[in-house]
Amino acid sequence: MAIKGLFSRKGGQPADGFGASDEQKGLRPIDKRDAERRLALLDSFEESGIGWFWATDGLGRLIYLSEHAIHQIGVEHGTLMGKGVATLFSTDPLDEAEDKRRPLGFLLSARNTIADLPVRVAIDDREVWWSITGKPQFDAQGEFLGYRGSAKDISAEIVRQRDAARLAQYDSLTGLSNRHRMTSRLTATLTAYRSAKRSCALLMMDLDRFKHVNDTLGHPAGDELLRQVAQRLQTIVGKRGEIGRLGGDEFQVILPDMDDRGQLGELAGRLIQMVSQPYSVEGSRAIIGASVGIAIAPYDGLETDDLVSSADLALYAAKGGGRGQFRFYSAELKDGARLRKQIEEDLRDALHRDEMSLRFQPIVRASDGLVTCFEALLDWHHPDRGRIRPDLFIPIAEETSIINDLGEWAMRKACSCASEWPGDLRVAVNVSAIQFTTSDVPAMVQRALAATGLDPARLEIELTESVFMGDQQSVQDTFLRLKKIGVRLALDDFGTGYSSLSYLRHAPFDKIKIDRSFVRGAAEKGNNNPAIIKAIVSLAEALNMETVSEGVEAMDELELVTGLGTSHVQGYIYSQPTAHENVLERLARGEMLYDAVGPAYHRADRRSTYRKVGVIHEDHRYDAVMRNLSRTGARIEGLLNVPLGTPLVVDFGEGQLAVATVRRSEGHVQGLEFETPLVSDGADGLCTRHRVSPYSLAAAGMPLAALPPGYYPLVQSASDSSASSRPAFMQVDLSHHGSRSA
Ligand code: C2E
Ligand code: CA
Ligand code: CA
Repeated sequence: MAIKGLFSRKGGQPADGFGASDEQKGLRPIDKRDAERRLALLDSFEESGIGWFWATDGLGRLIYLSEHAIHQIGVEHGTLMGKGVATLFSTDPLDEAEDKRRPLGFLLSARNTIADLPVRVAIDDREVWWSITGKPQFDAQGEFLGYRGSAKDISAEIVRQRDAARLAQYDSLTGLSNRHRMTSRLTATLTAYRSAKRSCALLMMDLDRFKHVNDTLGHPAGDELLRQVAQRLQTIVGKRGEIGRLGGDEFQVILPDMDDRGQLGELAGRLIQMVSQPYSVEGSRAIIGASVGIAIAPYDGLETDDLVSSADLALYAAKGGGRGQFRFYSAELKDGARLRKQIEEDLRDALHRDEMSLRFQPIVRASDGLVTCFEALLDWHHPDRGRIRPDLFIPIAEETSIINDLGEWAMRKACSCASEWPGDLRVAVNVSAIQFTTSDVPAMVQRALAATGLDPARLEIELTESVFMGDQQSVQDTFLRLKKIGVRLALDDFGTGYSSLSYLRHAPFDKIKIDRSFVRGAAEKGNNNPAIIKAIVSLAEALNMETVSEGVEAMDELELVTGLGTSHVQGYIYSQPTAHENVLERLARGEMLYDAVGPAYHRADRRSTYRKVGVIHEDHRYDAVMRNLSRTGARIEGLLNVPLGTPLVVDFGEGQLAVATVRRSEGHVQGLEFETPLVSDGADGLCTRHRVSPYSLAAAGMPLAALPPGYYPLVQSASDSSASSRPAFMQVDLSHHGSRSA
């Protein structure tokens, strides 16, 4: 080829008729008239692969493409020629949102000049990207002849760009969306759904005790665990929503078109259950838990920020209610959060201000009623709020590391009290799992024993199953150190946590405390708790451990648990927790035996409540008090003589309306049956599956806003607009009935 000659014969034989002087300098400029050499130059350029040329006819069909380009695409020359350029190259934007350029077809048909347009070569689904440039050609009469242009390969660059875009949007550890992407997805969804009046749920999930795994097994193990969590979440959520990791151990799920709280509760429960199954990471077994908070647009927030903060608050409440729970957002939570914050602040000073004390509850030998041990329970006398239960403040203390001071104080105080007791009477002290895994408990125990002179054999430490989460080795080490000191270990609340009988075999417990939820109702017919208690008792016997049935209140429960072989009993049937003075007085009288005193049967757990609700009948609204509530019905007071079969709507507030029918009626008391059963709110409460949508309220003339607590004008307006009709029932003055205790 001529062009080869041009470059290979440097200063050699002249290839054409240039003057000798130029030849000697090696300089032979190509000029415009030198058609052949210019062509050769272009040939060489084409072959180099740096770039190539293309041309179309007046109908936009490809009539030329550099060989090298055809070769890169890997198709026959013939298959390309004659094809429409607009179909050969697609302008699939890299990102729908960001690429605002006109599509190629449009540019071509408008005969626009094309400048550096990135296009995908639409052959098979190969990832070949070119940047193309082209100019329309016209003849002397202005007739369009076609395009001529150049192109170059930019595939590598596009792949790089895409990776960068991925990095900016996805979490590199788990491959899930990152916070940035989740926020923009949520904002886009909420904006679009607002005009379409659609709903969207937001789940926030936080892992319990992940930090502990990270600290004890190391960061690579922590990373691996997060990857496995992400996989489990994906398995469950699937195509229903988008999952993101916001950072650390915080996950978020966006679920478009979801507002059924029954379904959402089931999904959240399943997510928590899956995440709480054991993991195998880097050869170790790890157990974590998870808590979930749920908020639903438009009910709990219209804008991204509002919805996220509602879901956050729900998550916070879920964590506070004991771990491994989900919780729906409700306006009450806002007040709850304020209260918690106040308690947290007050808790910091409670010890210095001498507001804490211990109460003691006997643990009694089942065979003869002899007290063998007293459990020490914290009691907080708050100057303004009165008594605050440990169930409320212990979780707050655990979150703020106050638990370590509080725990050490309780340990020392309990040991000091017990040192005043006669004989070998023991004291049982609760040690929080958080305290157990974050501080040096054996050293703390030793300090308390040394300061009070209590015989280690008289101290029993109550731990819950959650101590088994995280690193098993360091847990075992701590157990051994405690056993060496000579104290006894008891497994508290057995059956409520991550119950696995298997770790009992390896842990040196002296006692298992069967949680009161197994005792409650166990004496009722058809309940399978007795079988569970029996299994725990026989395992404990095989392992030489004592058993305590907790929370025994009624005679039938006492009979049952002793019949099943539990060696010890604790509960109101023998004594409530009492002040240390009372214990000392009793011991001074030498009264070591306790009598069982209590009701013959335990009354079935009914949710008795006192809550104001609205009752709507036809176009009237009445005030009522709800006395008890179950999934399927409620008992209300406030309306006089409502006939059986009357259809009513109960307004629970916050847009929760339940259609109901009167099934029982006596004077001012009615028993109602709901058309659609209520669902769990994740705590002890119940809520309606669906709510009145803020969009319906807006349609009735209200400004569009997330649902505040209280009654709804939509419902109110119905009664306003038809003031002509008389109310069908008489409203009973509630102030009398309201003051009666529930
Ligand atoms: P727990 O360790 O399961 O303590 C037993 C709880 O059951 C006590 O509640 C006790 O008053 C209650 N109880 C006993 N018998 C009956 C009964 O027959 N019926 C019913 N319904 N309840 C009964 P309390 O004092 O409110 O303590 C709640 C929880 O707070 C304790 O549960 C324990 O987990 C925690 N706690 C209490 N003191 C301490 C402490 O010093 N340190 C730590 N870390 N936790 C503590
Ligand atoms: Ca306990
Ligand atoms: Ca317990």
